[in-house]
Amino acid sequence: LTEIQKNLFHLAGQFQQENTHQTEDYQEFKEIIETKRGFLKAYWCGQTTCEEKIKEETQATIRVIPFGQPEGVATHKCLRCGAKAQWLVYFAKAY
Ligand SMILES: [Zn+2]
Repeated sequence: LTEIQKNLFHLAGQFQQENTHQTEDYQEFKEIIETKRGFLKAYWCGQTTCEEKIKEETQATIRVIPFGQPEGVATHKCLRCGAKAQWLVYFAKAY
């Protein structure tokens, strides 16, 4: 990578970090979705019915399911339904 490319890469990463919020509380999730831009990182059970409910209730949809899932995902609960989490995913509001 050239210096310029490295800087651009760094900036993009920083932007993503600053615009990514994480919560395990559905009420807080709704508030963040309403008031902030960017991505919301949250645990999800993997059920499409649950994802559809989240979309109905918050207009947020799953954008990214990262390849490298962190260890211990299953020790967390799904943001909405409280079932055992399968994935840590990124949500963003659909406009
Ligand atoms: Zn769920």
